[in-house]
Amino acid sequence: DFSARVPYQGSDEIGSLANAINNMSYRLEKYQQNRHEFFSNISHELKTPITYIKGYTQAIQKKLYRDEKEKKLFLNIIENETVRMNKLMDDLMDLSKIEEGKLNLQYEKIDLTHVLEMAVNKIQIKAEEKRLTVHYNQETDIPLFVADGYRMEQIFTNLLENAVRYTEEGSIKVTISYHHSSIRIRISDTGIGISDKDIPHLFDRFYRVDKSRSRSLGGTGLGLSIVKRLVGVHGGRIHLDSVEGKGTTFTILFLLLEEENHNEKV
Ligand code: ADP
Repeated sequence: DFSARVPYQGSDEIGSLANAINNMSYRLEKYQQNRHEFFSNISHELKTPITYIKGYTQAIQKKLYRDEKEKKLFLNIIENETVRMNKLMDDLMDLSKIEEGKLNLQYEKIDLTHVLEMAVNKIQIKAEEKRLTVHYNQETDIPLFVADGYRMEQIFTNLLENAVRYTEEGSIKVTISYHHSSIRIRISDTGIGISDKDIPHLFDRFYRVDKSRSRSLGGTGLGLSIVKRLVGVHGGRIHLDSVEGKGTTFTILFLLLEEENHNEKV
């Protein structure tokens, strides 16, 4: 049992040793608790799609559908749940690689405006389906930035997908600018917003404000925790401002190194 305490409280050397051991055991206990929580979250997240897949497969086998149309609906559910499990697995792999420092980053000088535009184009159809307008604005010249282009696109796509997912009407605004040696990317929506009590937990693994809503919209609850870590491995910072019922703004800042500052502007 790692959580055993050393019940010695003297102020001598043995006392400070006891104190050090107690601190360590407290941290181990916390670590084990986190690990336990993490694995029970994963098994829960996997069980849900498996339950659906099993249920609807049996329903088809036993011909429990009314007509061909309903059979097709059942097959669609099975397919969606498979896609979800796949996404969950990909997200988990990313997360574990980042946390172990084993994510293989392909650094190159990239034009972030180009990457951002590609991500905006990718979500355009989903936005149009919900009648949301997407505005993209490059406010200043942007220097080239040394980063992994694929991962940068993953960051932007994730935030943009969330913006579409959690916005019912209005618009999504994307801006990129360069000031004081930093590239700033802002993604704002006019969506449901996030309450003050939820904001501090938003980047935690598996944290969702509304589990069933996120689930029905195709979320895994891992997106933002991956985004935050990906921004971090590129030396950047991310934060959010939100007003419940009004909308949310995510801001990413990438500080450019001295030598990158001398790059030509794009
Ligand atoms: P999910 O896969 O559930 O979207 P994320 O890690 O991407 O997981 O986001 C965590 C939670 O943060 C979401 O479930 C949602 O409650 C909230 N959230 C994220 N982006 C937004 C946004 N733009 N507007 C409102 N809520 C958001």
